[in-house]
Amino acid sequence: MITTLNCLKIPFFFFLFISVSCKQEKAGSVIDDVAISNESETAQWLAYGRTHSEQRFNPLDEINENNVNELKVDWYLDLPKDVGLVSTPLVVDGILYFTGTMNIIRAVDAVTGERIWEFDPEVREHIKGKKQTGWSHSRGISFYKGKIFTATWDGRLIAIDAKTGKEIWTAVTFDPHRALYITGAPKAFKNKVIIGNGGTEDGPTRGFVTAYDVETGKVAWKFYIVPGNPADGFENKAMEMAAKTWTGEWWKHGGGGNAWHGFTYDPELDVLYIGTGNGAPWNRKVRSPEGGDNLFLCSIVALDPDNGEYLWHYQTTPGETWDYNSSMDIVLADLNMDGEEMKVILHAPKNGFFYVINRETGKLISAEPFVETTWATHIDMQTGKPVETKNARYENGPVDITPNPWGAHTWHAMSYNPQTGLVYIPALHQSVKFSDEGINLESWQGRDFAAGTAAHMLEADQQPRDYPASLIAWDPIKQKEAWSVPQDVFWNAGTLTTAGNLVFQGRSDGKFLAYNAETGEVLWTFDAGLGISAAPTTYKINGVQYVSLLVGFGGGYARGGYESHKLGWAYGAHTRRLITFSLDGKKDLPPQPPRFFPRPIKDPEFILDEDLAIQGYNEYWKCFNCHGDGMFGGSMAPDLRASPIPLDFNSFAAVVRDGLKNNMGMPSYPEMSDEQLEALRHFIRKRARETYPVYEGLIAEQESQN
Ligand code: CA
Repeated sequence: MITTLNCLKIPFFFFLFISVSCKQEKAGSVIDDVAISNESETAQWLAYGRTHSEQRFNPLDEINENNVNELKVDWYLDLPKDVGLVSTPLVVDGILYFTGTMNIIRAVDAVTGERIWEFDPEVREHIKGKKQTGWSHSRGISFYKGKIFTATWDGRLIAIDAKTGKEIWTAVTFDPHRALYITGAPKAFKNKVIIGNGGTEDGPTRGFVTAYDVETGKVAWKFYIVPGNPADGFENKAMEMAAKTWTGEWWKHGGGGNAWHGFTYDPELDVLYIGTGNGAPWNRKVRSPEGGDNLFLCSIVALDPDNGEYLWHYQTTPGETWDYNSSMDIVLADLNMDGEEMKVILHAPKNGFFYVINRETGKLISAEPFVETTWATHIDMQTGKPVETKNARYENGPVDITPNPWGAHTWHAMSYNPQTGLVYIPALHQSVKFSDEGINLESWQGRDFAAGTAAHMLEADQQPRDYPASLIAWDPIKQKEAWSVPQDVFWNAGTLTTAGNLVFQGRSDGKFLAYNAETGEVLWTFDAGLGISAAPTTYKINGVQYVSLLVGFGGGYARGGYESHKLGWAYGAHTRRLITFSLDGKKDLPPQPPRFFPRPIKDPEFILDEDLAIQGYNEYWKCFNCHGDGMFGGSMAPDLRASPIPLDFNSFAAVVRDGLKNNMGMPSYPEMSDEQLEALRHFIRKRARETYPVYEGLIAEQESQN
């Protein structure tokens, strides 16, 4: 069975004043840095991680460990045209704002769910035909001084009037002809709004972030994450310093480092922290053949928020070669370490280590693995660098590596509860076999829109645990697990924690759970009937605490592959929703259809040409990012095995080559020859035939459970 491609296969401590005031009554309160820094605010949820600290802790306790089992649906909104939903809604002055698929922003009454306005930036038109990854998702919006900021898949940053939902300005953040995309939430602070992008797997990209003036949309400053060609001169001293950690002609590969997620503004120290991404390509032997740390890949880089000047950095994965981004949450906290109050950053990047960093100095305080880490044994506290294991860089042949490129923790948000002192991490436990055998490392060159990593990902001999994921409660002072809950399904959503001694988390199997924050005991379970990939929000209006959650399986893993496919959240089968809960809730949700498995079409008349099918396999890299690894469809696009379109050459050519379904987000490939199309068609039909028994097995399993 062919399931492997040259790409991813697998799959301050605060005194807590509980505010009873209702911000809704103070219409038009100014949401500035003072407001976004106010940890005691409970009525609203003003930023991606609630406040500038990104803790995702709300000091509300109306819903608590004693009554959470009475939580019910208060109101809901069906979102039938949405696909993946991965964002956390914001709540400002009684209005809930959220971003859906294709960056459609909606404002609804936070008490009733009544629609106020909707803003559609027409991403489908802008992305038309472009061979893009990024999956039409957006992880969030930013609210600042009456404006909402969204960064579109196709690379625009748009300011919207929060009252009217009308566009105020648009900035184009990169050349739309480049293989870059945005899925991240812009971050607004100090009258600026910053955004980066993704795309390190899609071409020779050089990562950067840009800050714009919130009023005008003009560029305030731009910071490159990796150095360019020295012959062109360096933009600043930081790039000159970084260039000393690169070898060869790295600029020909861009170098990568794209910051696609974690941005945190520290109002106490007036510093901006950027979490940076992996190398382009992943394999350092290609990117920087004589070695080197390759700054500022996989780092937290501290910048002056006013001008973007470099202040300090801490690199979690020097010379990265496994897709170990440090783009994950950068959470600010004040910890009492041996009697001393320390201002720290809490960070759990893909590489599997939990870092506590002094945010005044950038010095590492402690780092311990929160999962199995076969690539490195520990972090040397003298150097602050990981001690790598033998052959971790697959220099002596294929090797099993944990964590795999999905990471030990990815963009699914972690939360920090200053009352329990614990961090709640949606953790992943998977291994993959890395290899670069058969790849000509000297001649390897990435091309825009041609997915490539210069490394193979193969099935590992064994997985680190007999379950793929867990919810881990981590003590950042002791650097030890306090408790954890094993999970049978991979890719579970981000967490929320409250003063009610609760942790909330949705799972990819559709369950939304509340846990005792101190013990991990499950206190409440709700079946949303569709995989959950978004972290919840909580807020309080007129004395009532609400918990609100977007339901719509999404993110890279939702594209499919056998394990993802097996969840049964087939494209278009289930209704995407925003669900809001309260203790007074009285609504019943309309039921969702059961798990659905598209039936591969049987076509006995089709004469399969095995040689063409093999050629077609080599075309499928264009398709897997939406249609699924191994052609097992997921939530993002139709399962090709069940599609009638590949049965007929002309229909297939009309869609794939001529762009008939561009308006659905399907790109076009005008350069494909008849032979390439025919080969792909044969590969699709081959997979439909050989996976039919898998379909029958899934249906039998489904029936036995009913
Ligand atoms: Ca990556």
